[in-house]
Amino acid sequence: MKKDFQLTVLGARGSMAACREECGVFGGDTSCYMVRAGDETIFLDGGSGITSAPARYPKPPVILLSHLHLDHIMGLGMFTGFFVPGQQARLYVPFCEDDESAANMMARVFAPPFWPLKLSDLEGKPEILAMPERFSVGDIQIETMEGNHPDRTMVLRLTFDGRSIVYATDYEVDEPSFARVVDFAAEADLLLYDAQFSEEEYPSKRGFGHSTAIKGIELMHRSGADRLLLIHHAPASPDRTLLKREKMLNRRNVSYAREGETIIL
Ligand SMILES: [Zn+2]
Ligand SMILES: [Zn+2]
Repeated sequence: MKKDFQLTVLGARGSMAACREECGVFGGDTSCYMVRAGDETIFLDGGSGITSAPARYPKPPVILLSHLHLDHIMGLGMFTGFFVPGQQARLYVPFCEDDESAANMMARVFAPPFWPLKLSDLEGKPEILAMPERFSVGDIQIETMEGNHPDRTMVLRLTFDGRSIVYATDYEVDEPSFARVVDFAAEADLLLYDAQFSEEEYPSKRGFGHSTAIKGIELMHRSGADRLLLIHHAPASPDRTLLKREKMLNRRNVSYAREGETIIL
């Protein structure tokens, strides 16, 4: 029997939260996806969506950051999982030489005068660690690959019990990296892909570090991924825009991520 492996969308908005009635279907919280694999819990990014996650877990939760843009970390200071004494969460920060530089990096935002408390001072005493190239959390194997984005970003692959999730947020296609992403995402069961811009918008947004649904579909086909979840919705895109785009794509196993939905792998 296959072990429980699932992903819940806690926030799929990109760049900035969007709390308006017209964002009720896809949600307004920024990047955060909760992965449950057996009794382990891994969060992909700590955007404002992480503030709706539970406080207690069977095993201390682990947070993997793709990069440090504010929309991917803004929820961390209010993540209730960091406030439970004895539940020491781990936060992995990419592009840091060592754990000390990872802690210093986070303290540049989460310390006065920008935030009242350092993350490492919270009751759960979360550990802040430099993200290795490959590592594991329990029985979950994690692989990383640098993407293409201003200030850098990490594409992540989680493999558990023969199934894989690939998380490619804040990624803009450039030819050398796209071929590597195709290999990296090979035969993934679930692919999360940055589709912030429409095909029409993209030419005027070149260099912003984001992609389109059509490129996501190309990646899905070339890598042989089973299912594509389009993420990092622009704050200015209301539900009607995303619903229209989804309808126009009209592809099986391709959808825009909806806050609150759970995908069972
Ligand atoms: Zn972002
Ligand atoms: Zn970014």
